[in-house]
Amino acid sequence: MSVPKKSICKWSKEMIGAHLRDLLAEAHAARFVCRKCGRTAANRHLLCKPVKPNKTSSPDETS
Ligand SMILES: [Zn+2]
Repeated sequence: MSVPKKSICKWSKEMIGAHLRDLLAEAHAARFVCRKCGRTAANRHLLCKPVKPNKTSSPDETS
């Protein structure tokens, strides 16, 4: 896995271009979605506000 540890949400356009193949692999295996940015990843550490799409309701939704 050569995806940078930095969250995908914070990637620059240059980083996305350089790691597009890894990004596509990440999106293909995605189990989490960022509710702030709408990005997807298999690893929640790559998202700033990760949520599980198959979850009916997230506990921290009540604010
Ligand atoms: Zn995000």
